[in-house]
Amino acid sequence: MTLTPSPADPLSTLDPWLHELQDWIACESPSADTAAVTRMMELAARRAQAKGLRTESIQLAGTPAPALLVSNRAAGDDRAGILIIGHLDTVHPAGTLARNGWRCVDDRLYGPGIYDMKAGVYLALEALGELQAAGGRTALPVDMLLVPDEEIGSIHSRTLTEDWARRSRYGLVCEPARARTGYCVTARKGTGMLRVVAHGRPSHAGVQHDKGRSAIREMAHQVLAIEAMTDYAQGVTVSVGLIEGGTTRNVVPARCEIFADFRVPDQARGDALLARMRALSPRDADVTLEMTAEMNRPPMEPSDATLALLARAQACASQAGWTLGAAPMTGGGSDANFAAAAGLATLDGLGPDGDGAHTLDEYILVSTLAQRLAFWRLLLQSLD
Ligand SMILES: [Zn+2]
Repeated sequence: MTLTPSPADPLSTLDPWLHELQDWIACESPSADTAAVTRMMELAARRAQAKGLRTESIQLAGTPAPALLVSNRAAGDDRAGILIIGHLDTVHPAGTLARNGWRCVDDRLYGPGIYDMKAGVYLALEALGELQAAGGRTALPVDMLLVPDEEIGSIHSRTLTEDWARRSRYGLVCEPARARTGYCVTARKGTGMLRVVAHGRPSHAGVQHDKGRSAIREMAHQVLAIEAMTDYAQGVTVSVGLIEGGTTRNVVPARCEIFADFRVPDQARGDALLARMRALSPRDADVTLEMTAEMNRPPMEPSDATLALLARAQACASQAGWTLGAAPMTGGGSDANFAAAAGLATLDGLGPDGDGAHTLDEYILVSTLAQRLAFWRLLLQSLD
C-alpha cells in the first residue's frame, strides 16, 4: 500500500512526518465501500497506537464500518474534555488514485480525499500524538472521534457524535479550511431533504388520453413551486436535484418522484420552510402527493461560547505565525452541525488550506502544514 517514491517523485521531498499521509491517501475509502473504510480506520488506529494513544473501535448500527475513538484520557479521568471530530470516508470511488494519480505542483499536493479531509485528521492526530509522545499532558482530556459515513449524511454515526458532543467541553472539527482564505468555520447552514411522489392515473396516451392523470404534468407544477421557495436574501436555497417519472412514451404517466435539497441559515427559517413544503397540494384533484420533508443537519449557529473559543484559537494561530479568520456562514453541512446543535462550543474548518473538495483536483497547500500543526499543538495544550 505504501507508495515507493522514485527519484523523480516530488513526494519524496516531503517532510518525513508527512510520509504516512501518502499511505492514508493510497488507502482509498469511499463511504459505500465499508471494507475499505474499515481498513482506513485501522490505519489511523495503528498511527495513534504508535504514538501511545488509546484507541477503541466502535460498532455502529446499520453499517459494518466502525467509528474510531482515539484518546489521551488517563484512566479514571471523566472530565468533559476536548472533542476532535473527523471523518475518514471520501466521495471518491475506488480506483480514482490509479486513474488520477498523485501530483505535486509547486506548493499544491493533489490526491483524492486529501483536502476533505484526510490531511485534516492527520494534522490533528499528529499534534495529539506528538504531545503524547513527549509526555506532555493536555490541560483537558482529548477525545478524537473519527466516523465512517460523513459524506453520506452521517446516518449511522450521528447519535454517537451527539452523545460525545453533550459530554464534551469544546469541539474542534477537522474539515478543510475555507479555500483561498484558510479561514475556519463557526456557522453552517442547516441542510434538509424533500422527497415528493405524485400518483396519477395511467392510460393509453393516444386512445384514452382523457382518462389519464399525468403525474409528470402535476410534478412540473410542483417543481416550479418548490424551486420558488429559494430566497437568497434570507439565505434559503431549494434545489430539485433529481426527477424520475413515467414508464414509456405512449403511456400517460402514473408516477413521478423528485428529490430536493434545501439549506437554511437558522432553525426558524427551517421550520417555516418545512411548513410551506408540507402544505404543498396537488393542482389536479385526481392526483395525490406523498411527501417526506425533513432537516438532515440542523443549522450551526455560533454561540457566545463558540466565539470565545474562536478568540482562543486565533491567539494560538498568531503564536504559530499565521492569521486565523472566521469565514462567513457556509452552505455546506458537516458533523459540526450536530455538535453545535447539541450545545457544544464548536470550531470547524481547522484542517489544511487548499481547495477543490469533492473534485478530482482536490489539493492541500504543503507550505501551510507546519504552521497548522504548531497551531493544533498549542490549541490542544492551552484549552482548559
Ligand atoms: Zn469532509
